[in-house]
Amino acid sequence: MNTIGVLTSGGDAPGMNAAIRAVVRTSIYNNLRIMGIKQGYNGLINGNIYEMNISSVADIIHRGGTMLKTARCDEFTTEAGREKAMTVLKVFGIDGLVVIGGNGSLKGARELSKLGFPTIGIPGTIDNDLGYTDFTIGFDTAINTVIDAIGKIRDTSTSHGRANIIEVMGRHCGDIALYSGLAGGAESIIVPEEGFHIEEVCKRLIQSKNRGKLHSIILLAEGVGNIGNAYELGDEIQKYTDIDTRVTILGHLQRGGSPTAFDRIIASKMGAKAVEILMEGKTSRALGIKSNKVFDMDIEEALSVENKFDTETYELTKILSI
Ligand code: ATP
Repeated sequence: MNTIGVLTSGGDAPGMNAAIRAVVRTSIYNNLRIMGIKQGYNGLINGNIYEMNISSVADIIHRGGTMLKTARCDEFTTEAGREKAMTVLKVFGIDGLVVIGGNGSLKGARELSKLGFPTIGIPGTIDNDLGYTDFTIGFDTAINTVIDAIGKIRDTSTSHGRANIIEVMGRHCGDIALYSGLAGGAESIIVPEEGFHIEEVCKRLIQSKNRGKLHSIILLAEGVGNIGNAYELGDEIQKYTDIDTRVTILGHLQRGGSPTAFDRIIASKMGAKAVEILMEGKTSRALGIKSNKVFDMDIEEALSVENKFDTETYELTKILSI
């Protein structure tokens, strides 16, 4: 192994920069050349690649986003696109690749591995939707952003005696809603993994109001299918309860911001380990964290692990919000 390439792909996540920094610095420490590939698999196919040095990654560990930029790339999902990528890797003399991204990006890494190219996947997405790892890089920062927003919305909700629906990201995964709901003391949490009855939500709101509570926070994950949209849900709740109900959609706010210490730490550990295992001659591996330990496993196996919803914690949130 002489030259390693690194790219970020899919949705950006706070902590990706810390992971890039660790890949770059660990490579240089081990006398390897390190090439930055810009805009994900797009840059790989189009040769948007440059050599990095120690100062390329100075002053980025605390910054959100990704200094290598990111993209979605349909061409890479085709055989012809991946063949082009293989040619570009050869032209630039890259003989190992680190891919930082979510589920789709790791599938891309798996496909390159299948073509015989040494590739390692690092889980970087705010959604925490990869079942094989306890945490993905960016999740902790996102839930901290959400609880900060909950605190602010709670202040104004209390002043006006309102209920507030806060819609959060996560695609088909309810983890952002669940964990920020627990940490933010939400009255109700609505996630795609669990059944949802509007009567139950309304009953809770009325009970809270009757015991003198001045505000209510309802956390709604974006992937919940059978409720129309957040505004329609708000209208329904207001109709049934007569409580003034407002909606806040946090949107891309959740994808930005300076990464938390936890995200910087796991990103740094994973970035370093990716280079170490490439040097050991390993390929087709995905990195993860379990019981506070960074590990690697077969990428195909990792992608086949079902993403289990934490029902125990979900039940706890119901107990704590009575
Ligand atoms: P996030 O979870 O933040 O959305 P992601 O990595 O899951 O991130 P995707 O858009 O699903 O985001 O995937 C990113 C890119 O990975 C795609 O644009 C595509 O180039 C590549 N990719 C996705 N799935 C595959 C696949 N099955 N085979 C090859 N490449 C893939």
